[in-house]
Amino acid sequence: MATTRKRTVKRPVTKKRSAKTTSARKPSVKKAATKKASARRPAAKKSSAKKSSAKKSTTRTTSSRATKPLAEYNRKRDFTRTKEPAGTVPKAKGSTLHFVVQKHAASRLHFDFRLELDGVMKSWAVPKGPSYDPKVRRLAMEVEDHPISYNTFEGTIPAGEYGGGTVMLWDRGTYEAEDGGGPASLRRGYEKGDLKFVMHGTRLKGAWVLVRMNRPTGKEWLLIKHRDDTADPDYDVTADETTSVVTDRTMEQIADGTRVWHSNR
Ligand code: MN
Repeated sequence: MATTRKRTVKRPVTKKRSAKTTSARKPSVKKAATKKASARRPAAKKSSAKKSSAKKSTTRTTSSRATKPLAEYNRKRDFTRTKEPAGTVPKAKGSTLHFVVQKHAASRLHFDFRLELDGVMKSWAVPKGPSYDPKVRRLAMEVEDHPISYNTFEGTIPAGEYGGGTVMLWDRGTYEAEDGGGPASLRRGYEKGDLKFVMHGTRLKGAWVLVRMNRPTGKEWLLIKHRDDTADPDYDVTADETTSVVTDRTMEQIADGTRVWHSNR
């Protein structure tokens, strides 16, 4: 695994890819203007207005996030009605970072892509899910941070509740910064909107990147597979893997509450 990481970092193809994605975004000088425009416009959601104004301050991230982590997550949910876990930040234990991908049949089917960072799961809703084809860019809409305890959630959220529908644990594992720089590097990458990482999952492996698009919302990212020996344009992973990575259940079985017996678990 470590060798894969080292190799991919140094590859010229990887460079080319990141140059390409950089050019796809507007130069960062324009960022301030765009942000201002978004702050002026009446925001649809309270939270996005709060966030975009907060983004103007360079010191915001740690301060505002540290005061109320998972506040948005908790505000959106009624825990007397949903079985999802309430949002709390556990004490840090160990340096291994986890990821989870949940297939979520809400009003629209999507894959929730969650990366652990600083005690929470940074989260993106990816309508089409990840692709192993390095030429494919998958839209990833950033959503509110989720608690780490969400990583074991599989089941149904009642209709009418936030995110109502069936949730499948589609993949899970650990991940790390592509450059080997640990959480500090991931934090920088997230802030910059250029998050490069290596996944060690059951279904998702190798180097990937999340690139923030320069859009007024600041929520639109692209999930792209880096070119490495795990890349495979012919492998349609979301079509191939349609059951829970933990319980082997289909979406229908999860919705029905079917328990599947595993002799190996
Ligand atoms: Mn979702």
